[in-house]
Amino acid sequence: MDAPGAPPSDSYYIAEQKIYPREISGRFAFLRVLAVWGLLGVFYAMPWLYWNGRQAVLFDLPARKFYVFGLVMWPQDFIFLTALLVIAALTLFFVTALAGRLWCGYACPQTVWTEIFIWMERIAEGNRSERMKLDKAPWTAKKIARKTLKQVLWIGFSLITGITFVGYFTPIRELLVSAIGFSLGPWETFWSLFYGFATYGNAGYLREQVCKYMCPYARFQSAMFDRDTLIITYDTVRGEPRGARRRGADAASLGLGACVDCTWCVQVCPTGIDIRKGLQYECIACAACIDACDSVMDKMEYPRGLIRYTTQNALDQKPTRILRPRVVIYGALLGALILGFGVALARRTPVDVDVIRDRNALYRLLDDGRVENVYTVKILNKTEHAHRFVVTVHGAGELTVDPAPARFDVTSGEVYSLGIRVRRPAYEPVGSQDIRFEIRAEDNARLHASTSARFLAPSR
Ligand code: SF4
Ligand code: SF4
Repeated sequence: MDAPGAPPSDSYYIAEQKIYPREISGRFAFLRVLAVWGLLGVFYAMPWLYWNGRQAVLFDLPARKFYVFGLVMWPQDFIFLTALLVIAALTLFFVTALAGRLWCGYACPQTVWTEIFIWMERIAEGNRSERMKLDKAPWTAKKIARKTLKQVLWIGFSLITGITFVGYFTPIRELLVSAIGFSLGPWETFWSLFYGFATYGNAGYLREQVCKYMCPYARFQSAMFDRDTLIITYDTVRGEPRGARRRGADAASLGLGACVDCTWCVQVCPTGIDIRKGLQYECIACAACIDACDSVMDKMEYPRGLIRYTTQNALDQKPTRILRPRVVIYGALLGALILGFGVALARRTPVDVDVIRDRNALYRLLDDGRVENVYTVKILNKTEHAHRFVVTVHGAGELTVDPAPARFDVTSGEVYSLGIRVRRPAYEPVGSQDIRFEIRAEDNARLHASTSARFLAPSR
Protein backbone atom coordinates (compact mmCIF):
# COMPACT_ATOMS: atom_id res chain seq x y z
CA MET A 1 0.00 0.00 0.00
CA ASP A 2 1.35 3.48 -0.86
CA ALA A 3 2.39 5.74 1.99
CA PRO A 4 0.32 8.95 2.26
CA GLY A 5 1.77 11.58 -0.08
CA ALA A 6 4.05 9.09 -1.84
CA PRO A 7 3.74 8.73 -5.63
CA PRO A 8 1.47 5.81 -6.54
CA SER A 9 3.24 2.53 -7.21
CA ASP A 10 2.47 0.37 -10.24
CA SER A 11 -0.42 -1.92 -9.48
CA TYR A 12 -2.04 -4.67 -11.52
CA TYR A 13 -5.33 -4.18 -9.73
CA ILE A 14 -7.95 -1.80 -11.09
CA ALA A 15 -11.09 -1.36 -9.04
CA GLU A 16 -14.16 -2.21 -11.15
CA GLN A 17 -16.54 0.63 -11.88
CA LYS A 18 -20.18 -0.34 -11.43
CA ILE A 19 -21.97 -0.36 -14.79
CA TYR A 20 -25.49 1.03 -15.11
CA PRO A 21 -26.63 -0.09 -18.57
CA ARG A 22 -29.33 2.14 -20.06
CA GLU A 23 -32.51 0.42 -21.20
CA ILE A 24 -32.89 0.29 -24.96
CA SER A 25 -35.54 -0.91 -27.34
CA GLY A 26 -35.12 -1.90 -30.95
CA ARG A 27 -34.92 -4.83 -33.33
CA PHE A 28 -32.13 -6.67 -31.56
CA ALA A 29 -33.40 -5.86 -28.07
CA PHE A 30 -36.67 -7.50 -29.12
CA LEU A 31 -34.83 -10.59 -30.34
CA ARG A 32 -32.86 -10.73 -27.10
CA VAL A 33 -36.02 -10.46 -24.99
CA LEU A 34 -37.56 -13.28 -27.07
CA ALA A 35 -34.46 -15.44 -26.52
CA VAL A 36 -34.34 -14.66 -22.78
CA TRP A 37 -38.00 -15.47 -22.11
CA GLY A 38 -37.93 -18.48 -24.43
CA LEU A 39 -34.84 -20.03 -22.82
CA LEU A 40 -35.89 -19.23 -19.27
CA GLY A 41 -39.37 -20.58 -20.05
CA VAL A 42 -37.84 -23.86 -21.20
CA PHE A 43 -35.57 -24.07 -18.14
CA TYR A 44 -38.32 -23.43 -15.57
CA ALA A 45 -41.12 -25.36 -17.32
CA MET A 46 -39.22 -28.47 -18.41
CA PRO A 47 -39.16 -30.29 -15.02
CA TRP A 48 -42.93 -29.87 -14.76
CA LEU A 49 -43.66 -31.75 -17.99
CA TYR A 50 -44.87 -35.31 -17.64
CA TRP A 51 -44.36 -38.25 -19.97
CA ASN A 52 -45.79 -41.76 -19.49
CA GLY A 53 -46.69 -40.96 -15.88
CA ARG A 54 -43.23 -39.72 -14.88
CA GLN A 55 -41.20 -36.52 -15.11
CA ALA A 56 -40.31 -36.05 -18.79
CA VAL A 57 -36.73 -34.90 -18.17
CA LEU A 58 -35.08 -36.34 -15.09
CA PHE A 59 -31.45 -37.21 -14.42
CA ASP A 60 -31.97 -39.80 -11.72
CA LEU A 61 -28.42 -40.17 -10.40
CA PRO A 62 -29.12 -42.65 -7.53
CA ALA A 63 -30.87 -45.01 -9.98
CA ARG A 64 -28.27 -44.16 -12.66
CA LYS A 65 -31.00 -43.54 -15.24
CA PHE A 66 -31.53 -40.46 -17.39
CA TYR A 67 -35.03 -39.85 -18.72
CA VAL A 68 -35.45 -37.55 -21.70
CA PHE A 69 -39.09 -37.83 -22.80
CA GLY A 70 -39.41 -41.32 -24.40
CA LEU A 71 -35.70 -42.07 -24.06
CA VAL A 72 -34.29 -43.83 -21.01
CA MET A 73 -30.51 -43.64 -20.83
CA TRP A 74 -28.47 -46.09 -18.78
CA PRO A 75 -24.82 -45.92 -17.80
CA GLN A 76 -24.16 -48.10 -20.88
CA ASP A 77 -25.62 -45.30 -23.02
CA PHE A 78 -23.27 -42.58 -21.79
CA ILE A 79 -21.69 -42.60 -25.23
CA PHE A 80 -24.86 -40.83 -26.42
CA LEU A 81 -24.48 -38.09 -23.82
CA THR A 82 -20.82 -37.72 -24.74
CA ALA A 83 -21.80 -37.46 -28.42
CA LEU A 84 -24.40 -34.82 -27.51
CA LEU A 85 -21.76 -32.74 -25.73
CA VAL A 86 -19.41 -33.02 -28.72
CA ILE A 87 -22.25 -31.97 -31.04
CA ALA A 88 -23.02 -28.98 -28.78
CA ALA A 89 -19.35 -27.91 -28.78
CA LEU A 90 -19.05 -28.24 -32.57
CA THR A 91 -22.29 -26.31 -33.06
CA LEU A 92 -20.80 -23.52 -30.98
CA PHE A 93 -17.63 -23.51 -33.12
CA PHE A 94 -19.65 -23.58 -36.33
CA VAL A 95 -21.95 -20.71 -35.28
CA THR A 96 -18.99 -18.69 -33.98
CA ALA A 97 -17.08 -19.07 -37.26
CA LEU A 98 -20.17 -17.95 -39.18
CA ALA A 99 -21.78 -15.35 -36.96
CA GLY A 100 -19.32 -14.45 -34.19
CA ARG A 101 -20.46 -14.33 -30.57
CA LEU A 102 -24.14 -14.98 -31.23
CA TRP A 103 -24.17 -17.41 -28.31
CA CYS A 104 -22.79 -14.79 -25.88
CA GLY A 105 -25.24 -12.09 -26.91
CA TYR A 106 -28.47 -14.06 -26.95
CA ALA A 107 -28.27 -17.51 -25.39
CA CYS A 108 -25.49 -17.76 -22.78
CA PRO A 109 -26.98 -18.39 -19.29
CA GLN A 110 -24.86 -15.53 -17.94
CA THR A 111 -26.46 -13.11 -20.44
CA VAL A 112 -29.95 -14.52 -19.95
CA TRP A 113 -29.96 -14.39 -16.14
CA THR A 114 -28.21 -11.03 -16.05
CA GLU A 115 -30.98 -9.59 -18.26
CA ILE A 116 -33.60 -10.81 -15.81
CA PHE A 117 -31.69 -9.47 -12.81
CA ILE A 118 -31.29 -6.05 -14.46
CA TRP A 119 -35.02 -6.10 -15.24
CA MET A 120 -35.78 -6.74 -11.53
CA GLU A 121 -33.31 -4.02 -10.60
CA ARG A 122 -35.22 -1.56 -12.79
CA ILE A 123 -38.51 -2.54 -11.14
CA ALA A 124 -37.06 -1.85 -7.67
CA GLU A 125 -34.69 1.06 -8.30
CA GLY A 126 -35.87 2.72 -11.49
CA ASN A 127 -34.11 3.60 -14.73
CA ARG A 128 -30.38 4.20 -15.25
CA SER A 129 -30.18 7.76 -13.92
CA GLU A 130 -32.47 6.93 -10.97
CA ARG A 131 -30.25 3.98 -10.08
CA MET A 132 -27.10 6.11 -10.28
CA LYS A 133 -28.68 8.80 -8.11
CA LEU A 134 -29.93 6.24 -5.61
CA ASP A 135 -26.48 4.69 -5.20
CA LYS A 136 -24.95 8.11 -4.50
CA ALA A 137 -27.73 9.19 -2.14
CA PRO A 138 -27.44 8.78 1.65
CA TRP A 139 -29.27 5.88 3.32
CA THR A 140 -32.85 7.04 3.77
CA ALA A 141 -36.02 5.01 4.39
CA LYS A 142 -36.80 5.22 0.65
CA LYS A 143 -33.37 3.94 -0.35
CA ILE A 144 -33.56 1.08 2.17
CA ALA A 145 -37.03 0.14 0.91
CA ARG A 146 -35.89 0.10 -2.75
CA LYS A 147 -32.73 -1.86 -2.02
CA THR A 148 -34.69 -4.32 0.14
CA LEU A 149 -37.25 -4.85 -2.62
CA LYS A 150 -34.41 -5.57 -5.08
CA GLN A 151 -32.86 -8.10 -2.70
CA VAL A 152 -36.22 -9.79 -2.09
CA LEU A 153 -36.77 -10.14 -5.85
CA TRP A 154 -33.22 -11.35 -6.50
CA ILE A 155 -33.11 -13.83 -3.61
CA GLY A 156 -36.61 -15.17 -4.35
CA PHE A 157 -35.76 -15.68 -8.00
CA SER A 158 -32.40 -17.26 -7.13
CA LEU A 159 -34.07 -19.75 -4.79
CA ILE A 160 -36.63 -20.69 -7.44
CA THR A 161 -33.73 -21.15 -9.86
CA GLY A 162 -31.80 -23.34 -7.40
CA ILE A 163 -34.82 -25.55 -6.69
CA THR A 164 -35.61 -25.83 -10.41
CA PHE A 165 -32.04 -26.89 -11.10
CA VAL A 166 -32.22 -29.62 -8.45
CA GLY A 167 -35.63 -30.55 -9.92
CA TYR A 168 -33.78 -31.94 -12.93
CA PHE A 169 -32.17 -34.52 -10.61
CA THR A 170 -34.93 -35.16 -8.06
CA PRO A 171 -38.66 -35.33 -8.95
CA ILE A 172 -39.66 -31.69 -8.71
CA ARG A 173 -43.15 -32.11 -7.24
CA GLU A 174 -41.86 -33.98 -4.18
CA LEU A 175 -38.94 -31.56 -4.02
CA LEU A 176 -41.21 -28.53 -3.89
CA VAL A 177 -43.43 -30.10 -1.22
CA SER A 178 -40.31 -30.81 0.87
CA ALA A 179 -38.98 -27.28 0.27
CA ILE A 180 -42.24 -25.70 1.40
CA GLY A 181 -42.29 -27.96 4.47
CA PHE A 182 -38.59 -27.22 5.23
CA SER A 183 -37.85 -30.93 5.04
CA LEU A 184 -35.37 -31.10 2.16
CA GLY A 185 -32.58 -33.64 2.45
CA PRO A 186 -29.03 -32.39 3.08
CA TRP A 187 -27.84 -32.77 -0.55
CA GLU A 188 -30.97 -31.22 -2.00
CA THR A 189 -30.60 -28.30 0.43
CA PHE A 190 -26.93 -27.87 -0.42
CA TRP A 191 -27.37 -27.91 -4.22
CA SER A 192 -30.49 -25.71 -4.17
CA LEU A 193 -28.67 -23.10 -2.09
CA PHE A 194 -25.41 -23.49 -4.01
CA TYR A 195 -27.01 -23.05 -7.41
CA GLY A 196 -29.26 -20.27 -6.12
CA PHE A 197 -26.25 -18.48 -4.64
CA ALA A 198 -24.27 -18.89 -7.89
CA THR A 199 -27.17 -17.34 -9.82
CA TYR A 200 -27.47 -14.48 -7.32
CA GLY A 201 -23.74 -13.74 -7.34
CA ASN A 202 -23.13 -14.13 -11.08
CA ALA A 203 -26.22 -12.35 -12.40
CA GLY A 204 -26.62 -9.85 -9.56
CA TYR A 205 -23.06 -8.70 -8.88
CA LEU A 206 -20.38 -10.23 -11.09
CA ARG A 207 -22.27 -9.73 -14.37
CA GLU A 208 -19.87 -8.53 -17.11
CA GLN A 209 -16.86 -9.58 -15.00
CA VAL A 210 -17.78 -13.23 -15.61
CA CYS A 211 -17.50 -12.56 -19.36
CA LYS A 212 -14.33 -10.50 -19.02
CA TYR A 213 -12.33 -12.56 -16.54
CA MET A 214 -13.91 -15.95 -15.92
CA CYS A 215 -15.37 -17.28 -19.17
CA PRO A 216 -12.89 -19.50 -21.07
CA TYR A 217 -14.94 -19.25 -24.26
CA ALA A 218 -14.38 -15.47 -24.36
CA ARG A 219 -10.65 -16.17 -24.39
CA PHE A 220 -10.44 -18.69 -27.22
CA GLN A 221 -13.36 -17.73 -29.45
CA SER A 222 -11.22 -15.21 -31.32
CA ALA A 223 -9.25 -18.19 -32.69
CA MET A 224 -12.40 -19.07 -34.66
CA PHE A 225 -12.76 -15.57 -36.09
CA ASP A 226 -11.51 -14.54 -39.51
CA ARG A 227 -12.13 -11.56 -41.78
CA ASP A 228 -15.45 -13.06 -42.94
CA THR A 229 -16.93 -13.65 -39.48
CA LEU A 230 -19.95 -11.54 -38.60
CA ILE A 231 -18.96 -8.91 -36.01
CA ILE A 232 -20.58 -5.84 -34.53
CA THR A 233 -18.54 -2.82 -35.42
CA TYR A 234 -18.54 0.92 -35.70
CA ASP A 235 -18.02 2.33 -39.19
CA THR A 236 -15.08 4.65 -38.57
CA VAL A 237 -14.99 5.91 -42.16
CA ARG A 238 -18.59 7.07 -41.95
CA GLY A 239 -18.60 8.15 -38.31
CA GLU A 240 -15.39 10.19 -37.94
CA PRO A 241 -14.63 12.91 -37.15
CA ARG A 242 -17.29 12.70 -34.48
CA GLY A 243 -18.89 15.74 -32.90
CA ALA A 244 -22.12 17.28 -31.60
CA ARG A 245 -24.39 19.23 -33.93
CA ARG A 246 -28.00 20.35 -34.21
CA ARG A 247 -30.60 17.96 -35.55
CA GLY A 248 -30.85 18.08 -39.32
CA ALA A 249 -27.50 19.88 -39.65
CA ASP A 250 -25.43 18.97 -42.71
CA ALA A 251 -22.50 17.00 -41.32
CA ALA A 252 -20.34 17.43 -44.43
CA SER A 253 -20.52 21.23 -44.34
CA LEU A 254 -19.46 21.11 -40.66
CA GLY A 255 -16.57 18.82 -41.52
CA LEU A 256 -18.03 16.06 -39.33
CA GLY A 257 -18.83 12.39 -39.77
CA ALA A 258 -22.12 10.75 -38.82
CA CYS A 259 -21.28 10.13 -35.14
CA VAL A 260 -22.86 12.85 -32.97
CA ASP A 261 -20.80 11.73 -29.94
CA CYS A 262 -23.93 11.24 -27.84
CA THR A 263 -22.32 8.21 -26.08
CA TRP A 264 -25.59 6.29 -26.14
CA CYS A 265 -23.77 3.27 -27.53
CA VAL A 266 -21.55 3.33 -24.43
CA GLN A 267 -24.41 3.91 -21.98
CA VAL A 268 -26.39 0.86 -23.17
CA CYS A 269 -23.37 -1.45 -23.23
CA PRO A 270 -23.66 -4.13 -20.52
CA THR A 271 -19.86 -4.50 -20.41
CA GLY A 272 -19.24 -0.76 -20.37
CA ILE A 273 -17.02 -0.57 -23.46
CA ASP A 274 -16.92 1.97 -26.27
CA ILE A 275 -17.41 0.08 -29.55
CA ARG A 276 -15.98 3.09 -31.41
CA LYS A 277 -12.52 2.06 -30.17
CA GLY A 278 -12.71 -1.07 -32.35
CA LEU A 279 -13.37 -4.76 -31.77
CA GLN A 280 -12.69 -5.65 -28.13
CA TYR A 281 -12.74 -9.04 -26.42
CA GLU A 282 -15.12 -7.65 -23.76
CA CYS A 283 -17.83 -7.20 -26.42
CA ILE A 284 -20.42 -9.95 -26.00
CA ALA A 285 -22.16 -9.01 -29.26
CA CYS A 286 -25.47 -8.21 -27.60
CA ALA A 287 -26.21 -5.59 -30.31
CA ALA A 288 -27.57 -3.07 -27.77
CA CYS A 289 -25.25 -0.44 -29.25
CA ILE A 290 -26.73 -1.07 -32.72
CA ASP A 291 -30.23 -0.37 -31.43
CA ALA A 292 -29.01 2.71 -29.56
CA CYS A 293 -27.14 4.16 -32.51
CA ASP A 294 -29.95 3.35 -34.95
CA SER A 295 -32.38 5.31 -32.78
CA VAL A 296 -29.95 8.27 -32.76
CA MET A 297 -29.51 8.05 -36.54
CA ASP A 298 -33.32 8.02 -36.92
CA LYS A 299 -33.59 11.18 -34.80
CA MET A 300 -30.84 12.88 -36.81
CA GLU A 301 -32.46 11.69 -40.05
CA TYR A 302 -29.23 9.94 -41.06
CA PRO A 303 -29.16 6.44 -42.56
CA ARG A 304 -29.02 3.65 -39.99
CA GLY A 305 -26.08 1.28 -39.63
CA LEU A 306 -23.26 3.46 -38.27
CA ILE A 307 -22.84 0.57 -35.81
CA ARG A 308 -23.91 -2.66 -37.46
CA TYR A 309 -23.37 -6.35 -38.02
CA THR A 310 -20.77 -6.69 -40.73
CA THR A 311 -17.47 -8.39 -41.52
CA GLN A 312 -13.94 -7.05 -41.62
CA ASN A 313 -13.82 -7.73 -45.37
CA ALA A 314 -17.06 -5.80 -45.95
CA LEU A 315 -15.63 -2.86 -43.99
CA ASP A 316 -12.57 -2.95 -46.24
CA GLN A 317 -14.83 -2.93 -49.33
CA LYS A 318 -13.89 -6.55 -50.11
CA PRO A 319 -16.34 -9.38 -50.81
CA THR A 320 -17.45 -11.48 -47.84
CA ARG A 321 -17.30 -15.25 -48.29
CA ILE A 322 -19.73 -17.37 -46.31
CA LEU A 323 -18.24 -20.71 -47.37
CA ARG A 324 -14.66 -20.82 -46.12
CA PRO A 325 -12.54 -23.91 -45.31
CA ARG A 326 -13.16 -23.67 -41.55
CA VAL A 327 -16.93 -23.28 -42.01
CA VAL A 328 -17.02 -26.21 -44.41
CA ILE A 329 -14.91 -28.39 -42.08
CA TYR A 330 -16.97 -27.53 -38.98
CA GLY A 331 -20.19 -27.98 -40.97
CA ALA A 332 -19.14 -31.34 -42.44
CA LEU A 333 -17.98 -32.66 -39.06
CA LEU A 334 -21.17 -31.46 -37.42
CA GLY A 335 -23.38 -32.96 -40.13
CA ALA A 336 -21.56 -36.32 -39.93
CA LEU A 337 -21.83 -36.38 -36.13
CA ILE A 338 -25.53 -35.51 -36.12
CA LEU A 339 -26.21 -38.16 -38.76
CA GLY A 340 -24.21 -40.79 -36.85
CA PHE A 341 -25.93 -39.84 -33.62
CA GLY A 342 -29.39 -40.07 -35.22
CA VAL A 343 -28.67 -43.46 -36.80
CA ALA A 344 -27.16 -44.87 -33.58
CA LEU A 345 -30.14 -43.59 -31.58
CA ALA A 346 -32.64 -45.09 -34.02
CA ARG A 347 -30.82 -48.46 -33.96
CA ARG A 348 -30.42 -48.49 -30.21
CA THR A 349 -32.45 -51.26 -28.58
CA PRO A 350 -33.55 -50.82 -24.99
CA VAL A 351 -32.54 -54.40 -24.12
CA ASP A 352 -29.09 -55.89 -23.79
CA VAL A 353 -27.71 -59.37 -23.45
CA ASP A 354 -24.34 -60.53 -22.24
CA VAL A 355 -23.12 -64.15 -22.19
CA ILE A 356 -20.24 -65.59 -20.16
CA ARG A 357 -19.10 -69.16 -20.71
CA ASP A 358 -18.51 -71.27 -17.60
CA ARG A 359 -14.75 -71.22 -17.24
CA ASN A 360 -14.61 -74.18 -14.82
CA ALA A 361 -15.14 -76.76 -17.56
CA LEU A 362 -14.20 -76.72 -21.23
CA TYR A 363 -17.20 -78.95 -22.07
CA ARG A 364 -19.03 -81.96 -20.69
CA LEU A 365 -19.77 -85.27 -22.42
CA LEU A 366 -23.17 -86.56 -21.32
CA ASP A 367 -24.00 -90.26 -20.95
CA ASP A 368 -25.91 -90.24 -24.22
CA GLY A 369 -22.81 -88.83 -26.02
CA ARG A 370 -24.05 -85.21 -26.35
CA VAL A 371 -21.64 -82.34 -25.77
CA GLU A 372 -22.73 -79.73 -23.24
CA ASN A 373 -21.44 -76.17 -22.54
CA VAL A 374 -22.74 -74.06 -19.68
CA TYR A 375 -23.24 -70.28 -19.92
CA THR A 376 -24.40 -67.45 -17.70
CA VAL A 377 -26.76 -65.18 -19.65
CA LYS A 378 -27.44 -61.66 -18.39
CA ILE A 379 -30.50 -59.85 -19.71
CA LEU A 380 -30.80 -56.13 -19.11
CA ASN A 381 -34.29 -54.66 -19.53
CA LYS A 382 -33.79 -50.91 -20.10
CA THR A 383 -37.46 -50.29 -20.93
CA GLU A 384 -39.96 -48.83 -18.50
CA HIS A 385 -42.05 -52.03 -18.38
CA ALA A 386 -41.61 -55.70 -17.45
CA HIS A 387 -41.28 -58.15 -20.36
CA ARG A 388 -41.06 -61.90 -20.85
CA PHE A 389 -37.97 -62.79 -22.89
CA VAL A 390 -37.31 -65.99 -24.84
CA VAL A 391 -33.69 -67.09 -25.22
CA THR A 392 -32.73 -69.01 -28.36
CA VAL A 393 -29.34 -70.29 -29.55
CA HIS A 394 -28.22 -70.50 -33.17
CA GLY A 395 -25.23 -72.16 -34.79
CA ALA A 396 -24.20 -75.09 -36.93
CA GLY A 397 -25.89 -78.36 -35.95
CA GLU A 398 -28.90 -79.22 -33.80
CA LEU A 399 -28.38 -77.07 -30.74
CA THR A 400 -30.77 -77.44 -27.84
CA VAL A 401 -31.05 -75.42 -24.63
CA ASP A 402 -31.89 -76.39 -21.09
CA PRO A 403 -34.18 -75.18 -19.62
CA ALA A 404 -36.47 -75.42 -22.63
CA PRO A 405 -38.25 -73.32 -23.53
CA ALA A 406 -35.98 -70.68 -22.00
CA ARG A 407 -38.49 -67.96 -20.99
CA PHE A 408 -37.82 -65.39 -18.29
CA ASP A 409 -39.74 -62.46 -16.84
CA VAL A 410 -37.50 -59.41 -16.42
CA THR A 411 -38.81 -56.33 -14.65
CA SER A 412 -38.02 -52.77 -15.73
CA GLY A 413 -34.44 -51.83 -15.01
CA GLU A 414 -33.50 -55.34 -13.88
CA VAL A 415 -30.34 -57.22 -14.83
CA TYR A 416 -31.59 -60.82 -14.86
CA SER A 417 -28.92 -63.49 -14.59
CA LEU A 418 -29.58 -67.12 -15.53
CA GLY A 419 -27.64 -70.31 -16.20
CA ILE A 420 -28.26 -72.01 -19.57
CA ARG A 421 -26.94 -75.34 -20.84
CA VAL A 422 -26.41 -75.69 -24.58
CA ARG A 423 -26.18 -79.22 -25.98
CA ARG A 424 -25.22 -80.68 -29.30
CA PRO A 425 -25.62 -84.31 -30.46
CA ALA A 426 -22.45 -86.38 -30.51
CA TYR A 427 -22.84 -87.28 -34.20
CA GLU A 428 -22.50 -83.63 -35.33
CA PRO A 429 -19.28 -83.53 -37.38
CA VAL A 430 -18.28 -80.03 -36.21
CA GLY A 431 -15.70 -79.23 -33.57
CA SER A 432 -15.63 -76.01 -31.56
CA GLN A 433 -17.66 -73.20 -33.09
CA ASP A 434 -19.13 -69.75 -32.49
CA ILE A 435 -22.79 -69.78 -31.54
CA ARG A 436 -25.24 -66.90 -31.26
CA PHE A 437 -27.53 -66.19 -28.30
CA GLU A 438 -30.64 -64.21 -29.11
CA ILE A 439 -33.22 -62.76 -26.72
CA ARG A 440 -36.60 -61.51 -27.88
CA ALA A 441 -39.50 -60.08 -25.92
CA GLU A 442 -42.67 -62.13 -26.44
CA ASP A 443 -44.91 -59.06 -26.45
CA ASN A 444 -42.78 -56.72 -28.59
CA ALA A 445 -40.81 -57.92 -31.63
CA ARG A 446 -38.70 -54.72 -31.60
CA LEU A 447 -37.17 -55.67 -28.27
CA HIS A 448 -34.43 -58.05 -29.17
CA ALA A 449 -30.67 -58.34 -28.83
CA SER A 450 -28.03 -60.91 -29.57
CA THR A 451 -24.43 -61.76 -28.81
CA SER A 452 -22.03 -64.56 -29.67
CA ALA A 453 -20.07 -67.02 -27.53
CA ARG A 454 -17.75 -69.95 -28.12
CA PHE A 455 -19.07 -73.53 -27.98
CA LEU A 456 -16.28 -75.98 -27.19
CA ALA A 457 -16.31 -79.61 -28.26
CA PRO A 458 -13.72 -82.42 -28.52
CA SER A 459 -11.77 -82.25 -31.78
CA ARG A 460 -12.24 -85.11 -34.22
S1 SF4 B 1 -20.09 -3.06 -27.62
FE1 SF4 B 1 -22.22 -3.22 -28.31
S2 SF4 B 1 -22.50 -5.36 -28.86
FE2 SF4 B 1 -20.60 -5.22 -27.66
S3 SF4 B 1 -21.27 -5.67 -25.58
FE3 SF4 B 1 -21.30 -3.43 -25.81
S4 SF4 B 1 -23.40 -3.00 -26.44
FE4 SF4 B 1 -23.12 -5.17 -26.71
S1 SF4 C 1 -24.68 6.03 -30.46
FE1 SF4 C 1 -23.94 6.34 -32.56
S2 SF4 C 1 -23.92 8.54 -32.75
FE2 SF4 C 1 -24.02 8.19 -30.57
S3 SF4 C 1 -21.89 8.11 -29.90
FE3 SF4 C 1 -22.45 6.02 -30.40
S4 SF4 C 1 -21.79 5.77 -32.52
FE4 SF4 C 1 -21.87 7.98 -32.14
